[in-house]
Amino acid sequence: MKTRMTILLAGLAPLAFIAQAADITNAMLENAAKDTKNVLSFGMGTQGQRFSTLTQINTKTVGQLVPAWSFSFGGEKQRGQESQPIIANGKMFVTASYSRIYAIDLKTGNKLWKYEHRLPEAIMPCCDVVNRGAAVYGNLVIFGTLDAQLVALDQNTGKIAWKEKIDDYAAGYSITAAPLIAKGVLITGVSGGEFGIVGRVEGRDPLTGELLWMRPTVEGHMGYKYDKDGKATEAGVTGTVNKSWPGELWKTGGASTWMGGTYDPATGLAYFGTGNPAPWNSHLRPGDNLYSSSTLALDPVTGQIKWAYQSTPNDSWDFDGANEFVTFDMNGKRYGGKADRNGFFYVIDAKTGQLQNAFPFVNKITWASGIDLKTGRPNFIAANRPSDPTKGDGKKGSTVFAAPAFLGAKNQMPMAYSPQTGLFYVPANEWGMEIWNEPITYKKGGAYLGAGFTIKPLNDDYIGALRAVDPKTGKIVWENKNSAPLWGGVMTTAGGLVFYGTPEGFLKAVDAKSGKELWKFQTGSGVVAPPVTWEDGGVQYVAVVSGWGGAVPLWGGEVAKKVNFLEQGGSVWVFKLATKI
Ligand code: CA
Repeated sequence: MKTRMTILLAGLAPLAFIAQAADITNAMLENAAKDTKNVLSFGMGTQGQRFSTLTQINTKTVGQLVPAWSFSFGGEKQRGQESQPIIANGKMFVTASYSRIYAIDLKTGNKLWKYEHRLPEAIMPCCDVVNRGAAVYGNLVIFGTLDAQLVALDQNTGKIAWKEKIDDYAAGYSITAAPLIAKGVLITGVSGGEFGIVGRVEGRDPLTGELLWMRPTVEGHMGYKYDKDGKATEAGVTGTVNKSWPGELWKTGGASTWMGGTYDPATGLAYFGTGNPAPWNSHLRPGDNLYSSSTLALDPVTGQIKWAYQSTPNDSWDFDGANEFVTFDMNGKRYGGKADRNGFFYVIDAKTGQLQNAFPFVNKITWASGIDLKTGRPNFIAANRPSDPTKGDGKKGSTVFAAPAFLGAKNQMPMAYSPQTGLFYVPANEWGMEIWNEPITYKKGGAYLGAGFTIKPLNDDYIGALRAVDPKTGKIVWENKNSAPLWGGVMTTAGGLVFYGTPEGFLKAVDAKSGKELWKFQTGSGVVAPPVTWEDGGVQYVAVVSGWGGAVPLWGGEVAKKVNFLEQGGSVWVFKLATKI
């Protein structure tokens, strides 16, 4: 008995030395962009700048960067790994394909626990079985799943604290974005714009999962607020019924909020981009189709829409405006920068939504000749809109060549902004598509496009281009071309560096001022995820997830053929300098 007791105590002993983990508070999240010891939110700060003040790894030392550890996600099913790790309380929380999440000991790279969400057979993610990351609050780590649930787990044990169904996966709903926490509210969107879902943003209590408010992103739908017992009260219709959506199609109008949002404590607003209006065939839904392909500024506490800016009215090319709205200071004012899927970079007053500037960040744009800065509207080139099939043989409209391709001048891969250089670092792609419209009717759970397409490269030698963009002038300061389309995110640091991954498998570090390549490392599979950095015990670390997949191999047409030599995988790499500086 005594022996058994001793063994038990010996087994328990190490627990006594585990420091009590600090609860993640709202104040910590509001300060997350300056917290060098943790990475507490998607975007490395809820503003989404992906800028770190750390300087140990810099233009002079980065050549000495070597792996500290690597961790495999394992499993037979791999596919795209688009996740940004969260660093908190000495742990890394990293999500993986097929709705998995791992907690890893930062010092050793040892697995602490994993949670594999039980997914039904019939999930319907449009663009691979990806997840982009988790959120942390209190002692919980929270992420969304491919069957449209939110799951909150205990950071120390991986045990489920709460689980909430967001919507019906059989109708096309899913979650791939990292949740946002702003003013103590857990704010999430939905994916499913290719299935005629109705986009929305929801606010919840992060500790209990209880719904606080729900705001649809399609004009005509009612918003709600909820009391402590879950009783719903109407909180006003989004927009005005039938104003920009004549007819009935707004009832299945898309505008999914699939990239999640950013939050700027300086303005007190949360910013969510919205996807394409459904279906793709624009002739079936005359009008601007608010608030599809837009940026919405919301009050995080009530969900009220404070302003909206629509980048592609009556979108006909699947130009989801879901891209991140990254706030920054310029000329003494607070603005947001957005590299839109439609090929234009927008600079917008973050408080009022007033358009300040809009300029192309790719070389070829066929759908509009520019953006009218007075009205904020694009100058459409009417001949380059795919035509109405009912005006021809009724089966297929005219085929037009359009650029950018529907996968976008930029897609899910987040850009970075450096207050040090005043530049945005944008992972752009140069490609076009043949596109035509077809008749379509809504059917629950069916693809709701009403269009056909083939994506094509525009240049022989490259599709991707990492571009340094000056938001003041609209100039491209430098660019680094890449053979395959770029699909990973970007990070920049006060060490004068820009980090980004490539589908060819490299994590690269380049000079933030010139783009000159200073370091690269082959991770073993394609990188389609954004890097992060933090410090621990006086040592700066860099981490990135590796694992080729995402929308390109599924939808890329001729482009997919160009990159089909790339191998799948699923791991996270951590780097530090070979010698301590
Ligand atoms: Ca879309």
